[in-house]
Amino acid sequence: MTLDATHDAALTSWVESANAADTDFPIQNLPIGMFRRRGSDAETFRPGVAIGNRIVDLNAAAAALPTSVNRALAACAPGELNAYMAEGRALHRELRVALSEGLSAGSEARERIEPALVAQAEAEYAVPCRIGDYTDFYTGIHHATTVGKLFRPDNPLLPNYKWVPIGYHGRSSSIGATGQRFLRPLGQLKSGADAPQLGPSQRMDYELEVGIFVSRGNPPGSRIAMEHAEDHVMGLVLLNDWSARDVQAWEYQPLGPFLSKNFATTISPWIVTLDALEPFRAPWTRPDGDPQPLPYLDSAANRAHGAFDIVLEVWLQTDAMLAAGHAPVRLTSANFRDAYWTVAQMVAHHTVGGCNLQSGDLFGSGTQSGPEAGQGGSLLELSSGGREPVVLPNGERRTFLQDGDTIVLRAHCRRDGCRRIGFGDCAGTLMPALAAG
Ligand code: MN
Repeated sequence: MTLDATHDAALTSWVESANAADTDFPIQNLPIGMFRRRGSDAETFRPGVAIGNRIVDLNAAAAALPTSVNRALAACAPGELNAYMAEGRALHRELRVALSEGLSAGSEARERIEPALVAQAEAEYAVPCRIGDYTDFYTGIHHATTVGKLFRPDNPLLPNYKWVPIGYHGRSSSIGATGQRFLRPLGQLKSGADAPQLGPSQRMDYELEVGIFVSRGNPPGSRIAMEHAEDHVMGLVLLNDWSARDVQAWEYQPLGPFLSKNFATTISPWIVTLDALEPFRAPWTRPDGDPQPLPYLDSAANRAHGAFDIVLEVWLQTDAMLAAGHAPVRLTSANFRDAYWTVAQMVAHHTVGGCNLQSGDLFGSGTQSGPEAGQGGSLLELSSGGREPVVLPNGERRTFLQDGDTIVLRAHCRRDGCRRIGFGDCAGTLMPALAAG
């Protein structure tokens, strides 16, 4: 691990809220995103870095930062971070170091940076870049096993699962940042022997996933080896892969999910960089008896610290809870450390056939469920396929989502001797369907 002064747990900021024990955004985090003041349609979305309950407007702060980051800031265009992402990790680290120094307690730059701060309470967010392609993996083995059992009790995992990182190419146009509100989708629904009918999905679900943003791409026909895979990764976000289970069940064979997944995907607004996550790396291991990965998916570094120790949570706030002033309740908790394949393995596998990744591409990790009952990363799991409702503290029950339900994904990293960091909220709300007509 390569920790430096920016990770020092004793480092504090002159932005007082960044020193609160439970903030997601202490000075050790410094994630980047795309924001504007809420309701200010005339303002463009522009790049910012979260610090405590504030945002550093990078364009507004440019003159207050050292000339060493001129190139980084020049690439931070309003509206999309693709050019900045393509610059790669060394340049991203330069900006991290400059912001860490400028925002640290006692910095002489305070009076010049302070006017460039915006309150997060006043902000709204856009996706941070033009997402050319979105790929959804299936690395959550506990999810794959639990869901597989619902359909194949004797043989939950298909034989390819432990050899090949399973994925499919998804839809990028409907990816939205936190705060996304979307209509309950229509689709073909089929029950029993009757012919299918067009109607609003009755089995709406969420999926707790980690999103992975590509920084530098690779030319067509080339492949990215394990040793270099993380040089092509900007950082991580939370990702809700909303799913219409009834539509999915009827359409998914033989080519996989289509309309059941393409109407909306919500991501958290801040890209937490791999540098910020460095203190929270974890070994990647395989259970005894499982096959070892093929050589192109294996490396010493991946085994030593290829995984990320990130606590992932799902929270629900229903319409009734909102009306009564009740905060969201936590439905489940899992850890990204438990994924069967690592971020580096996803990159290496995606490109091994010569597929070119591009700056701003997004991967979903697949639903991350924990090993225990009650740690399902979807309602499909928590309700045992819709048979056992989840009972909420106010007495409401859910097998699947109701109109007006808001799902909030949250995540944080914690380790002794390190400053806790978090991801911020990834919130999305299900709205009533249009008439099927
Ligand atoms: Mn998914």
